[in-house]
Amino acid sequence: MDGVIASAGAPDHRRPTWIEIDPGALAGNYRAVRELVGAEVEAMAVVKANAYGHGAIPCALRLRGEGARWFCVAIPEEAAELRSAGIVDERILCLGGAWGEQVAWCVSARVTPVIYRLDTAQAFDRAARERGVIADVHLEIDTGMNRLGVRHDQTAEFARALAGLKNLRVEAVMTHFAAADEPARDEFTRNQIARFDDAFAAVRAAGHEPAMRDLANSAGVYAHAAARGSAVRPGGVLYGLWRDVLPPSDVPPAGVRPVMSWKSRATLVKEVGAGETIGYGCSHRTTRRSCIATLPVGYADGYPRALSNRGRVIVHGQFAAVVGRVSMDLTIIDVTGIDREVHADDLVTLVGTDGASSISAEELAAEAGTISYELTCGIGARVPKIYMEG
Ligand SMILES: *Cc1c(COP(=O)(O)O)cnc(C)c1O
Repeated sequence: MDGVIASAGAPDHRRPTWIEIDPGALAGNYRAVRELVGAEVEAMAVVKANAYGHGAIPCALRLRGEGARWFCVAIPEEAAELRSAGIVDERILCLGGAWGEQVAWCVSARVTPVIYRLDTAQAFDRAARERGVIADVHLEIDTGMNRLGVRHDQTAEFARALAGLKNLRVEAVMTHFAAADEPARDEFTRNQIARFDDAFAAVRAAGHEPAMRDLANSAGVYAHAAARGSAVRPGGVLYGLWRDVLPPSDVPPAGVRPVMSWKSRATLVKEVGAGETIGYGCSHRTTRRSCIATLPVGYADGYPRALSNRGRVIVHGQFAAVVGRVSMDLTIIDVTGIDREVHADDLVTLVGTDGASSISAEELAAEAGTISYELTCGIGARVPKIYMEG
C-alpha cells in the first residue's frame, strides 16, 4: 500500500515518523456533506493528489463503502491507480484532462474526462468510435476563474461543435469557483452561477441533454446552497480541512473532523548551555540552559522549512517551539518548559491532538505561509501512513 515500506530488503522497523489516518472521520465527513446536500444531489468525492496526501486508494475504498459512486482525480495516472486497486464499477472523473495516448486509455477504462478543448473532444470521439462505444464527457465552462474550461461567452459555439461528434455524450456541464470561500466576493460567485445557468441553457439549445450540472467545491457546498446543482465536488472538507477552505468561522461544520495526524518520536534529547546556537546558520541562540530534542523529520518529509524558528509541536500534551532551521531530515525543538522530563523516544505530535493541546493542519500551514492543502499534499512518500480502523 502506498507509503508503506514493503520492498524486499527493507528493514522491519521504521523511523518513528508517521501519519495516522482516521478512516472513520473520513467517512463521517462524507456523510456530513451528504446530509447537507440531500439524497437527490450526487456527492462526488475528490481524491486527486493522492487524496490530498491521505492516500487515494484506502480513502476511495472507504468512501465507496459509504456509498460514493463518483471519484474525481486530476490526471489519468491517478484514475489508473484507482482502477488497478479494484475501483472498477464506480465512475471516475478526470478533472485536469487527458493527453495523447491517455485519451484511448480513458475510453477503454471508462474514465470520464473533463472537456475544454475541441481537439481533445475530437480525439475522444475518435477513440470511442474505434471501440464502438459512446463516451460520456463532462463539459467545463469557465465562468470567471480564467483557468480551465470553455469561456462562458463561447459556450454556444463550442456546444454546437460538440454536437457533431456522434460518439460523445455530454453527460454533465460543470464549472469551478474562484472564491466561494470569501464572503467579500459573494457577488463574484453569484455572477459565476448566473453565467453557468446561461451556459447550461446554451448547451441544451445546441441539442445536448446533460443529466448532471455541478459547480460546487467544498466552499460552494457550504456557502452557496444555490450552487449545489445535481452534483457537488467536495475535496478538502472530506479530509476535515475547513479553516482555510470554507468561509471564515471559529466552529467546525457539523460532523466534520480532521482525518490526518502527524507524529514522530524524539531521537535525541540533550542539555545545551545558555548562549549556544542551534542548527544550520546558527539562527537560534539559547537564552538559558536548555533542553533540546531532535526529531527525525524534516523538509524532505514535507515538514515546511518555513517553520524554522516559528513552528511548534506537542510533547506530553504541551507546546514546544521549533528552534533553529528545519533541515532536510531533522527538526530541533526546545522542550525546556515541558513539565514532565522529556526522554528520547517520547511521542511528539506535529499535527493532531495530544492531551489538551491540538495543532491543526490549517494552523501549521498558516504558520508556514501556505494552506493546509499544500501541507498535506506535500508530505513525502517516505512517511508511512497508518490507517487506524476502529
Ligand atoms: C480540486 C477541485 C475540487 C475540490 O475542491 P475543494 O476546495 O478541495 O473542495 C472541485 N472541483 C474541481 C474542478 C477541482 O479541481
